[in-house]
Amino acid sequence: MTTPEHSLVGIHAAIAVGAHQRFGWAFVALAGIASNLPDWDGLPMLFDMARFEHGHRVWGHNVTSIALSSLIVATLQYRFHLIETVATRLKNYLPKEVTIERARIGVPFIMLFLICAVVQTIHLPCDMVVSGGNGLSDWHIKPFWPISDVGYVFPLIPWGDIGPTIIMMCGVLLMVKYPKKLPLQSIVTLTILCCYLLIRGWTRGML
Ligand SMILES: [Zn+2]
Repeated sequence: MTTPEHSLVGIHAAIAVGAHQRFGWAFVALAGIASNLPDWDGLPMLFDMARFEHGHRVWGHNVTSIALSSLIVATLQYRFHLIETVATRLKNYLPKEVTIERARIGVPFIMLFLICAVVQTIHLPCDMVVSGGNGLSDWHIKPFWPISDVGYVFPLIPWGDIGPTIIMMCGVLLMVKYPKKLPLQSIVTLTILCCYLLIRGWTRGML
């Protein structure tokens, strides 16, 4: 999946379980950002394409990296309220109509750690089913690397398929228009996304 799509999956997942009501908007924002953490292993492409091919979807896409990065990010958010700090600084660049509510503080560390770990874990099957196509090779996900080198991929749709973005953005637009039943709308959005993946996979002969 692309970076915006991973973010949208994390945001919808957090809202689907009512996290926004219990822990506030910063918690949901954290879910959207943490959803992309496994892709840190794509950074070497900035310097060396060969290293990128070797390490992308391996170094960051495993349970060890997920546990460590969740620990680091949850600690930073717990100690320094990074999300709120950045949002406050960005406020000056946003339209006046945009208001940033004061975030609730006191979210337990374990919940910060869990949301980071859960959305990163969801990232793995998302990458398994959105892979290859358009001249790209399938990237196998190795969830237990470096202990095990076994990789998994199940490309239901090619990387870059616009369908997931359209579905999840429609979900967001509906939430803006009808903000009273956010969890239900996120659940419906994610269900439609799963149906889309299955139907597209079926039409491409993957199922
Ligand atoms: Zn990824």
